[in-house]
Amino acid sequence: MSDSNIGVVDYDDIKNSVEKELGYTPDGWAGLVTDLFRKIKEHCDKQEIEYPVVSQIKQKFGQLRIYFGTVVKDERIDSLFQTTIERANHSCEKCSNAAQVQLVEGFVTTLCCWCAHELVSSRRPQSKRLFGDGRPVKDRMACNVCGYRGQIDRTDEHGRCPACVKKNW
Ligand SMILES: [Zn+2]
Ligand SMILES: [Zn+2]
Repeated sequence: MSDSNIGVVDYDDIKNSVEKELGYTPDGWAGLVTDLFRKIKEHCDKQEIEYPVVSQIKQKFGQLRIYFGTVVKDERIDSLFQTTIERANHSCEKCSNAAQVQLVEGFVTTLCCWCAHELVSSRRPQSKRLFGDGRPVKDRMACNVCGYRGQIDRTDEHGRCPACVKKNW
């Protein structure tokens, strides 16, 4: 059976083959996608149908994309797949915290404020405006200091994200 699996997901080694495509993020997207293919495998075994061949798994414009080699006609597989995509696109790629698409150093990513801060902190940025396109923040959903969108500490009178509050920025 595994000889005929020519796609990127090896159903005998789901975790490693997914991490090869998405990176080592067991608490984030790689974990979600590993779960997805474990459920798909279980379903296929029960129904005695072939495992769907996956041609590509990637992040594009901050969204999780999974491409199948053939059209998947199974309703159960389709719904598992849709649920995973939906969840991934609203959760941090690294840790599964609630997140939405952000511009981080010119790259579109889906990272929570903690992981986004961690990513740029190693590079000693000159400015505290870490995210977005550099224009002044007018968006009420964006942090007044770093520009992170979608995760504002509602109790903070300065309109900052939790990471900026913790850093006392
Ligand atoms: Zn995160
Ligand atoms: Zn912030």
